[in-house]
Amino acid sequence: MSGPYAADRLVALVDAILQRSGSSPEEAAIVAANLVDSDATGHASHGVCQIAVYARSLELGHLQPNRHARVVRDEAPFLVVEGDVGYGQVIAREATDLAIARAKAGGACVLALRNAHHIGRVGSYGEQCIAAGLIGVFFVNVVSRPLAAPHGGGRPRLGTNPICIAVPATPGHPPFLLDFATSAVAANKCRVAASSGKEVADGLLIDERGAPTRDPGVMFRDPTGAILPFGGHKGYGLALACEILAGALAGGLPALPENLRPGRVVNNALAFLIDPARVSDARNGGWQALADSVLDHIQDTPPVPGGDGVLVPGGPERRSRALAAERGITLDPDTVHALHDIGGALGLDVPVILGT
Ligand code: NAD
Repeated sequence: MSGPYAADRLVALVDAILQRSGSSPEEAAIVAANLVDSDATGHASHGVCQIAVYARSLELGHLQPNRHARVVRDEAPFLVVEGDVGYGQVIAREATDLAIARAKAGGACVLALRNAHHIGRVGSYGEQCIAAGLIGVFFVNVVSRPLAAPHGGGRPRLGTNPICIAVPATPGHPPFLLDFATSAVAANKCRVAASSGKEVADGLLIDERGAPTRDPGVMFRDPTGAILPFGGHKGYGLALACEILAGALAGGLPALPENLRPGRVVNNALAFLIDPARVSDARNGGWQALADSVLDHIQDTPPVPGGDGVLVPGGPERRSRALAAERGITLDPDTVHALHDIGGALGLDVPVILGT
């Protein structure tokens, strides 16, 4: 029942659900492709499972279909874009396209994106920059219920605030695509573990009293536990940087109690897009040849005993995509149920669309 499903069938189902939920065919196609691709890259936490979150957001009026990136200030190098709580996959993609055009023309663009609904896998906007030959650095904050504890704190105060750094490569070389949450584990990975009765690894969670726990169920009780930052004070510092740069500066919506509440999902971002050709000169064959040499040298490191060797960030997602194309995509049981429930309620014949 959990698959594997062919990606095109999953896209067709999610697309149909979104269209019946009020999205234009263009919007439904963009969001469906983005969610399924997130599953394909190995980030199920930001993939098709989000359909249940989006359905609830639509019901609550926290998500508005058919919105587009609205430019509120365009003074090079700055671009400020309002998302009007439209689908983040559309708003962030359009905002990134606008920023790419400005960075190509002027060499750099500082993009402030405010008030988009969930933008999903931030790496997909990094990939847009890479495809345009640009470097992209994204700081994102998440306005939802508090999930992550500050380093040394026993209660959740922050979102899972992701960061992405994307750098293009010469043809034949893999690009560098670093894209992760600043929390030690994605909130949704806790949901999947909790629903299958599994514990999570040590060092990821604390319970409602601030004590270490392996029980993912603490994230779904009232009062909840919290996810720890990755890397102790370092991940915490980066999460806070997201809060200040994306939440307070770009979005005007930082992680304060009046903003963070269940049922709401807003992403704000501050992104820096740079045309590397404006920075580099041709010394030593140019920056790109040097960057490629670094990545080659790093991957040439002998593996630790029994290990698989060194990967460059972005490599695991490329590998996962190739496997998904070959073997299909497996979903967790909760997500399969949600697709059947939501699709069924909208009058869709889910088994026929999925070919099951
Ligand atoms: P993760 O912990 O799986 O880390 C992924 C990053 O680490 C990628 O850049 C990957 O290429 C790299 N990586 C993984 N293994 C590696 C290895 N062995 N060697 C070198 N690099 C390696 O990611 P995560 O923290 O679970 O985040 C998953 C996704 O969730 C991201 O796409 C992120 O943008 C997204 N996210 C979105 C939001 C939001 O509100 N929109 C919030 C949090 C996270």
